[in-house]
Amino acid sequence: MRIGIVTESSPGETRVAGTPSTVSQLVKLGYEVVVEAGAGEWASFRDADYVAAGVAIVDKTQAWNADVVLKLNAPNDAELAQLTSGATVISWLSPGLNPDLVERLTQYPITALAVDAVPRISRAQSMDVLSSTANIAGYRAVVEAANAFGRFFTGQITAAGKVPPAKVLIAGAGVAGLAAIGAASALGAIVRATDPRPEVADQVKSIGGTYLAVEIADQGVSSDGYAKATSEDYNRRAAELYSEQARDVDIIITTANIPGRAAPKLITAADVASMRSGSVIVDLAAANGGNVEGTVPGEKIVTANGVTIIGYTDLARRLPAQASQLFGQNLVNLLKLLTPGKDGVLVLDQTDIVQRSIIVVQNGEKLWPPPPVQVS
Ligand code: NAD
Repeated sequence: MRIGIVTESSPGETRVAGTPSTVSQLVKLGYEVVVEAGAGEWASFRDADYVAAGVAIVDKTQAWNADVVLKLNAPNDAELAQLTSGATVISWLSPGLNPDLVERLTQYPITALAVDAVPRISRAQSMDVLSSTANIAGYRAVVEAANAFGRFFTGQITAAGKVPPAKVLIAGAGVAGLAAIGAASALGAIVRATDPRPEVADQVKSIGGTYLAVEIADQGVSSDGYAKATSEDYNRRAAELYSEQARDVDIIITTANIPGRAAPKLITAADVASMRSGSVIVDLAAANGGNVEGTVPGEKIVTANGVTIIGYTDLARRLPAQASQLFGQNLVNLLKLLTPGKDGVLVLDQTDIVQRSIIVVQNGEKLWPPPPVQVS
């Protein structure tokens, strides 16, 4: 079968669904791979790099004529119309949030797989684009914070005097939070982190952070290890912790989310007003309602008391080469599962929960939503 890697049409998109390193792995799986001319340009992958990796550069029509089309963003109507009958498109689809898109997909004789719907079970971790994206966002949040902060993160003793290390608070120690802790401590900052799931304490410590516990009887952990909405008691004590920390730290990075709900508000306008001028907040939950009062999604603002609040929602797009590499590798890992004969033939097995979970439409038939999966 032929796989096509196409140029993303979404405004502001910088990433590409295959890199020279990932397409060569697809060739080893038995596929013929074609890449649309210029598809990797914004991510610094030149057409010549793909050719050196053993794949052909083609025009848009030929790329969309492939048996399997790989892309980042959901295809629009014009793109869907370019797919050949029986083709498979694999991309981010957010089918749970986009019922209109799911209906539109059924208008075509195609198969559509939502790579973002891979279940969050251990066996599927290597294909988990949500984790890859959160990891990049957490790292980039620290880079953005360091860029907006007018001082070093690290402490130094210089001939001109002693420089104290920056103090960083990370709220939410999931995938993005842990990446932010690692990046901020690597830059030499003093890093503290809090999360309602007490089991993250050891992970925080192992990458150089200090875990700040919110001590209450009900810690707000669901049976599957993911956060549930926290109790009033927890929220009251956590609010005290945030108020205390806001007066002390230079940087706050918030990453708190609860699956299926708006992001919890953690940092109040009064907390922001209590921070020193020059402090920086990066709100990674900006697209989901924000963890911070005053965040403007997509914007960097400076408050009246001189605190910068960054609400960028495109952090992965700001590291396009890395984001493309990890996304492309997630796709290679998925295609290994979908190519049992390693013969370049994609086969869907509906009895496998990972595969069943991502099938939105198969040959024009709507198969969304899939049966629920017990997260392990
Ligand atoms: P997420 O993006 O849904 O949430 C981010 C963090 O916010 C979580 O750590 C959560 O506990 C925290 N949070 C929620 N409410 C909060 C509050 N009021 N205050 C502070 N923090 C709050 O989650 P995620 O980062 O995608 O994943 C969380 C965990 O799930 C990971 O650390 C990992 O252990 C596990 N996971 C497993 C797999 C897998 O097995 N395939 C994949 C991804 C994640």
